[in-house]
Amino acid sequence: MKRQLLFFIFLLFSGVMAKARPQAKAGAADTSFITPFERSNGTKTATFVETLDFYKKLRDSFATISMGDAGLSDAGFPLPYVCYSSDSDFDKDNIKKEGRLVILINNDIHPGEPDGVDACMMLLRDAAKRKIKVPANVVLVVIPMYNLGGALNRGRSRPNQNGPKSYGFRGNSRNLDLNRDFIKCDAAETIGLEDMFTKISPDIFIDNHVSDGADYQHVMTLLATQHDKLGGETGAYMYNTFTPSLYTDMKKRGYDMVPYVNDFDKTPESGWREFYESPRFSSGYAALFHIMAYVPETHMLKPFKDRVKATYALMQSIIKEGAEHAGEIKKVRANDLAALANQNKFVLDWQADTTRYDSILFKGYEGAYKPSEVSGLPRLYYDHAKPFTKKVPFYDHFVPSKTVTAPTAYIIPKTWVSVISQMRNNGVNIRRFNKDTTMSVTAYHIDNYETVQHPYEKHYLHKNVQVTPGNISIRFYAGDYYIPLNQAAKRYIVETLEPTAPDAFFAWNYFDGILQQKEGYSAYVFEDIAAKLLKEDSVLKKQLDEKRKSDPVFAADAGAQLDFVYKRSPYFEQSYLRYPVYRLE
Ligand SMILES: [Zn+2]
Repeated sequence: MKRQLLFFIFLLFSGVMAKARPQAKAGAADTSFITPFERSNGTKTATFVETLDFYKKLRDSFATISMGDAGLSDAGFPLPYVCYSSDSDFDKDNIKKEGRLVILINNDIHPGEPDGVDACMMLLRDAAKRKIKVPANVVLVVIPMYNLGGALNRGRSRPNQNGPKSYGFRGNSRNLDLNRDFIKCDAAETIGLEDMFTKISPDIFIDNHVSDGADYQHVMTLLATQHDKLGGETGAYMYNTFTPSLYTDMKKRGYDMVPYVNDFDKTPESGWREFYESPRFSSGYAALFHIMAYVPETHMLKPFKDRVKATYALMQSIIKEGAEHAGEIKKVRANDLAALANQNKFVLDWQADTTRYDSILFKGYEGAYKPSEVSGLPRLYYDHAKPFTKKVPFYDHFVPSKTVTAPTAYIIPKTWVSVISQMRNNGVNIRRFNKDTTMSVTAYHIDNYETVQHPYEKHYLHKNVQVTPGNISIRFYAGDYYIPLNQAAKRYIVETLEPTAPDAFFAWNYFDGILQQKEGYSAYVFEDIAAKLLKEDSVLKKQLDEKRKSDPVFAADAGAQLDFVYKRSPYFEQSYLRYPVYRLE
């Protein structure tokens, strides 16, 4: 029986087995499976226990629903996912073979923004009850609650938000923002989700949120993967065809959707720049695998009930348009993956193109200033008595600001296990040396970098990294890792291993050991060694003389001169500032 097949491999380790279940019970009263959101007339969001109970009952009642766990969350609870397949076939190989579109929906990455939790409960119930149509060529995979630690930590931590009555907290159980964790992977949740990405390779990824920032009339705003950065046929297709189709369909459903209103520092009536989502963000991460991603952001000041309904409508839109365009979506992505074989240049960073924009019809409220009752100083407010509709520029084009040529392969000594573990979890094809091998490779010297002053998401993030490549001969050992670039994860590999990329493993402190010099010298002893070295090495002596002539401060600093000789001597350690991921050109 098809429904006894397991959907994802992780069912195996979750211990959750698909069971034979009745088909939709004909004539079942429509009052069954009322959600806490509906029961409270749109004022409450479901708790973790309520959500889990709801989906378990749904699974037990409908053969079209299955459940499993994507590993453990940091909170120590299994991280559940729920699937809908109209023919009850959950086998991922069958789904792939039949060319069915897989839509992965994530909720509660920020549990203070729970709209997607309640919208998806109704969505999957209505799909199971055949109240809404999920076409046969679409399979839904929903993570009901992603940040379980945050979901359990309920309160009212978003004072600007119009409901629900109580809701979870942004940080997970270790106080991490999971929507900054997609490359550094500190959280168990991230490891589980990336494993899921690797196994199911979704065609569309959705990550439901609620906005902050300015006031305006729109209930739903949409952050789409930046299309230039997504690039290739998929980026162009998303920008020219698929995203516009969502706006059109949402309009039919009664929603004037606009792009996510990004500029927080000013009122939006003069337009804004598209949000730039580097790979640390969910949609930026998806782009590394050439996956179209959307981050719906409902407007915080709209009532919770309206926001959930808008989220439900957008999920329906994506399902409908996805089903209609499934063949094209599959084709453009397959073409981009095939084109990787001949792609050598990779963009590591982007900047907004301030000369190009699209025009969007924005329904805002006039912003003005009045004296604050708190400070007596001018404060911003939005005047609801003065709504306006006007065209504003939306700067949604980006241009490369940093590009690198990919090597043939990267070589990583086997000591860097945490990097290898992330690579494996992301489906990277890795080989190992079966014997010791001496090779000529390119090694980067880390010339300069800046580090944030205070911890950012548990890390002292590095930025503005500057390197100099150099050719060296190095002995690798049996078991060291060889990562060829002729593979589907090519972009993930380059953007995580090139140390100047903004979200490289280097930036996230994976290689900080190399940033500290380990040995030194006592000056009174090294004086004699340095003097001997200078006698034997006329080139070094000349370099020192020239530096003294050109730099009077240096000429007056005995310690600096001794250090100059030391750093050019055979005694100076090779590992200091040498980036330990090597490029085979
Ligand atoms: Zn959010």
